[in-house]
Amino acid sequence: MKILLTGGAGFIGSHTAVELLNAGYDVVIADNLSNSREKVIDRIEKIAGKRPKFYKIDVANKEELSKVFDENKIEGVIHYAGFKCVPESTKVPIKYYRNNLDTTLTLLEVMEEKNCNAIVFSSSATVYGDKNKIPYEETMHTGDTTNAYSSTKLMIENILQDVTRANPNMSTIILRYFNPIGAHPSGLIGEAPQGIPNNLMPYITQTAVGIRDHLSVFGTDYNTPDGTCIRDYVHIVDLAKGHVSAIKYAVDNKGVNIFNLGTGKGSSVLDVVHTFEKACGKEIPVVYEDRRPGDIDCFYASVEKANKILNWKAEYNLYDMCAHSWNWQKNNPKGYDE
Ligand code: UDP
Repeated sequence: MKILLTGGAGFIGSHTAVELLNAGYDVVIADNLSNSREKVIDRIEKIAGKRPKFYKIDVANKEELSKVFDENKIEGVIHYAGFKCVPESTKVPIKYYRNNLDTTLTLLEVMEEKNCNAIVFSSSATVYGDKNKIPYEETMHTGDTTNAYSSTKLMIENILQDVTRANPNMSTIILRYFNPIGAHPSGLIGEAPQGIPNNLMPYITQTAVGIRDHLSVFGTDYNTPDGTCIRDYVHIVDLAKGHVSAIKYAVDNKGVNIFNLGTGKGSSVLDVVHTFEKACGKEIPVVYEDRRPGDIDCFYASVEKANKILNWKAEYNLYDMCAHSWNWQKNNPKGYDE
């Protein structure tokens, strides 16, 4: 079975490509490399022993995307292509709406024209907004998003609901990710942000390797045991395996199905820092700063639904996530760049 990964050269897509190839799927990646590097394709091949087919195209370009479908019998799509930087999205919202919605609409048009009816969408726990009780369950109210990135995720979820209602042959899986960190245990692929990282783990790893001189911990007065924010960190390889389970499920199940992908456990910023220090054997210099605007004190997933229905469960613990992130960073201090 041949699966198209839009945005498949990125952090989550590259790990999913490996797991799909390991599970016997054929993989086609379409990516404009706006936030990734072509070298990742060689690395995927090195790990999986099989090379994904790669198209350097913009998914919003209908002609180019149609050609990918004409040249390959695509039976399912995992859709990652989109901008993902929350703070940037608050500054240039139009860029986020234009790109994330255009890629999705073009993809859905082409899928319809080529009669491809299975899609897995890369959504985010941020669609739950800031008013729900934890743990977040898939049936809870969505909305109250606080930035353009999260709003595009929610809008795309709604678009997918409408499109699926209109097409009885369509199988749509929405995966709401919590906080993916870690790297492939081989150290060959991992997270390679361009410029100054916004997310916690790449900032920690770049501090450990000496690119940054300290980590700023944003907020120490939250309503949590140590005062720092609590998130549900999930190993990227576990998350990638969740996509393989989702594609399998999509083949036999029409309609829309939504799943959280997390561990169901919360860890604070300081839990992550101290676990990382154990894993790398170094101290991470920390400076305590004010709260970052928009952060919620604590959230984690209810993972029962993915457990029961997809038969998926995260296996790696926080120490593994830190050890693998460190292994990737120390072997590739500049990411995929030489
Ligand atoms: N964080 C931090 N320092 C950083 C980056 C993040 O203290 O340099 C905190 C952030 O305030 C949040 C947690 O780490 O409480 C996770 O942030 P991240 O941006 O990785 O993910 P988010 O949950 O915001 O999507």
